[in-house]
Amino acid sequence: MKDFNKKISKSGSITLPAALRREYGLADGERFKITIDGEDGTIMLQRTAGSCLFCGSGNELVVFNGRYVCASCIESMDGQVSDARMAGALKGGAVV
Ligand SMILES: [Zn+2]
Repeated sequence: MKDFNKKISKSGSITLPAALRREYGLADGERFKITIDGEDGTIMLQRTAGSCLFCGSGNELVVFNGRYVCASCIESMDGQVSDARMAGALKGGAVV
């Protein structure tokens, strides 16, 4: 878990840190669901729509480690991994 210490502005907004936006591919206009836990006051943000971390597409998104990746990029990566395995070009792992 990562912690950030942020302050609410006069207009009620909180800026998400640039490093966080970069890491999770958060873009302008993205929408979040806000959930508040009444017992301990925890406020959670959950992405309700987004775009692919790699190509920016909004189609056929899959959430992987908290980031959106589109089916097309997954297929492309899968193909490259298969090709690299066939060529024995992967580093740090056994060739299956
Ligand atoms: Zn993509």
